[in-house]
Amino acid sequence: VHHQQFSTIVDEVGGVKLKIAAGVGFFMLILYWDPLLLAAVAGSTTELKAEYVSAKVFLNVVAIRQCTREPEFAKEIIRLHKIVGNAVTEDRYIVVGTGSTQLYQAVLYALSPPDAAEPLSVVSAAPYYSSYPSITDCLKSGLYKWAGDAQSFNKEGPYIELVTSPNNPDGHVRQSVVNKSGGILVHDLAYYWPQYSPIAAAADHDIMLFTVSKSTGHAGMRIGWALVKDEEVAKKMVKYVELNTIGVSKDSQLRAAKVLQVATDGCKYPTSEGSLFDFAANVMEERWKLLRAAVRQSGLFTLPEFSPGLCRFLNSSFAPRPAFAWLKCEAPIEDCEAFLRSNKILTRGGKHFGVGPQYVRISMLDRDENYDVFVQRLSTIHLRQSMQV
Ligand code: PMP
Repeated sequence: VHHQQFSTIVDEVGGVKLKIAAGVGFFMLILYWDPLLLAAVAGSTTELKAEYVSAKVFLNVVAIRQCTREPEFAKEIIRLHKIVGNAVTEDRYIVVGTGSTQLYQAVLYALSPPDAAEPLSVVSAAPYYSSYPSITDCLKSGLYKWAGDAQSFNKEGPYIELVTSPNNPDGHVRQSVVNKSGGILVHDLAYYWPQYSPIAAAADHDIMLFTVSKSTGHAGMRIGWALVKDEEVAKKMVKYVELNTIGVSKDSQLRAAKVLQVATDGCKYPTSEGSLFDFAANVMEERWKLLRAAVRQSGLFTLPEFSPGLCRFLNSSFAPRPAFAWLKCEAPIEDCEAFLRSNKILTRGGKHFGVGPQYVRISMLDRDENYDVFVQRLSTIHLRQSMQV
């Protein structure tokens, strides 16, 4: 009924012939025709205006037009950062994205001058997160271009340096490494949460990226957020998100708001089992213990070593327990990924991260059953190899 009313209104007030389809197509049309309608309705009868308003309210069109950010979600982001103490939220704009993956692209778009003579260089210290080069270059943009390892970057002119801390894949806490002026830093803090790393201080950078994927584990909701100091940068990021996906799923934002709310409430009023972060920290601690024992037993690999640090949130001192294990195969094994594959362990090889094939990245966040099988297989490789000989 409403869509019929709506097409009548459209036809009457604007003289516009619209074929309004059902479902998503319908919402999209309303979205695009809305400004025209508004103008037309302003000069029409009271009755028509009332009809139009009721159609709008019924269809929740207002929410679709302004779906970039839900106020509840922004509020919960601030509450969570405040209680965990991992990022400064004051004097920042919060930009919401369809995962932090979309925000990464939004940042590149926002920081690149539209009329530069050549694309802006994008760098990160190796080993870097393997999605950075592939996402940066996949559309062969004229605005920006992947320029590789930040440690060997010496090109003149402006650039973006991505600082991932703790780092994916090796788990180390990082700072920028390019020693030149004219650079803009983007801090990807996806893993700066107490289950992975001691929270030493509230991060206070110009552009910081976070995601529910790694904070609470709800990667499937595809929700991330950026804390951005500069208003113009934030506005351009919002513009990108709106162009790219017509905003961010309202459903997902409301779900994410609820998840963050529960996580924060669990920190404020913990049960005997502690908060979500206590739980996740214990799981990670246990998994790293098992992994280090398996690596010792096999005698074929090494893992990064980490020094303990004080976590102001958990109020204790501990060494990082990253979301990934950055495993190195010792000689004579040359291709670690192939070697592990032959032992029924699937990993991502070092070349994806800008280093050699003796390294692989292994997820520490898989389900308990898979993780147990992985550790069991790793610990007995040595045994199986010698049995084959
Ligand atoms: N940044 C880093 C460093 C990551 O490891 C990941 C996920 N692998 C992301 C961003 C992307 O997160 P999202 O799921 O929010 O797109």
